[in-house]
Amino acid sequence: MPQQYDYIITGAGCAGLSLLYRMLRQPFFSGRKILLIDKQQKINNDRTWCFWEKQPGVFEDIVYCRWKQIDFYSNEFSARYDLEPYEYKMIRGIDLYETVLTEAKRSPNVTIVYDEVLSVLHQQGLALVNTTTDQFSASYIFNSIFFNDWKQQVIQQKNVHLLLQHFKGWLIETGKDYFNERIATFMDFRIAQNKGTAFIYVLPVASNKALVEYTLFSENVLKPNEYDAELARYIHEVLNVDKFSVQHEEYGLIPMTDHKFSKGANGLINIGTAGGQTKGSTGYTFQFIQKHSAKIIDALMQDNDPVITQGFASKRYRLYDSILLKVLTQKRMEGDKLFSLLFKKNATGTLLKFLDNESSFKEELKVMNSMPAGIFMPIAIQKILSNLVAEFF
Ligand SMILES: Cc1cc2nc3c(=O)[nH]c(=O)nc-3n(C[C@H](O)[C@H](O)[C@H](O)COP(=O)(O)OP(=O)(O)OC[C@H]3O[C@@H](n4cnc5c(N)ncnc54)[C@H](O)[C@@H]3O)c2cc1C
Repeated sequence: MPQQYDYIITGAGCAGLSLLYRMLRQPFFSGRKILLIDKQQKINNDRTWCFWEKQPGVFEDIVYCRWKQIDFYSNEFSARYDLEPYEYKMIRGIDLYETVLTEAKRSPNVTIVYDEVLSVLHQQGLALVNTTTDQFSASYIFNSIFFNDWKQQVIQQKNVHLLLQHFKGWLIETGKDYFNERIATFMDFRIAQNKGTAFIYVLPVASNKALVEYTLFSENVLKPNEYDAELARYIHEVLNVDKFSVQHEEYGLIPMTDHKFSKGANGLINIGTAGGQTKGSTGYTFQFIQKHSAKIIDALMQDNDPVITQGFASKRYRLYDSILLKVLTQKRMEGDKLFSLLFKKNATGTLLKFLDNESSFKEELKVMNSMPAGIFMPIAIQKILSNLVAEFF
């Protein structure tokens, strides 16, 4: 017989731990048996999450850095923006892992298992998890693990666009003070664009320390030394830093796609990137995971199905992502020019709301209007028509 739990969370990454943290904070869940499974101990600072928000979120206490102003640079257009009422924030992976896991270990209703999950499935009325050594069942399984190669899954689909967002970041320390800790460089496109849409983030965490990240949206990843060469060049030639040491490195790969990752059914609920919480046109995921976890918690507490269905608004945002992805994948417009126009012609508040899937239809029309109609309109019309056809037939 499988060991029985009320809830099982497979994957102790951002989505699994964000959901667990919310469960730990609600007395409703204190009498429920919760199992968390991951194949590895979360003891490395393997990623840094940046996101913007207006109000403090549940992880406010571990925000490592915050900026009220951001800079945007490109060869066409550069500007500094006040983010009010937003703040751009950074959370280090290790701080989130330690915070949630410390609290989980203190909670008698939570069990943590370190093992590889082989499958999650629904069988004979039971939601089951198979690991290399055990089988577990629960009323609900929240899964953040990809069991198949997501890239293969996506490229097999027709009419679906895919770009890889890949990046390498160096946390550098400089001898002298170089950085203004109050201002983050959100995107700097003043670098070569021949390998894909490419830009640099500069996120100062102290006057002599910053996370400098080289990001590309393209079909293929680069060789490791290509990221290093561009980072070194940018730090020397654009930031004018002569001497620095690399304190920490991070590498990441995020799918940018309009493929619909399954949200789950029958007691198996997909969360995180595996559950479609990565925004197709930007790769931002952290805040979408937070909103998704909050909705799951509400649904569980109200005894509703925690498979969160899409409203009309989410369909609209998916359409915008899909249009933008098509423009970028088919190179109808260069990415640096597209983002320059977005920043030049829209108020930052509106743009951040739009990128957060929280804008009104009126604001969305304004953002769409800032794009060249000759490029965007035919794609928008074709996508709306094919969505209608898919809906009715
Ligand atoms: C380096 C990096 C930086 C990022 N920065 C940002 C950012 O600044 N802002 C933003 O919004 N998004 C960012 N993202 C995107 C996104 O927020 C993260 O990828 C986020 O961690 C996704 O959460 P997740 O829970 O879906 O996946 P993960 O956090 O990757 O968690 C999945 C968990 O499943 C475990 N696992 C996998 N397979 C198995 C198995 N078979 N058995 C058991 N356990 C398994 C893994 O060990 C892992 O702990 C970044 C991504 C990366 C990689």
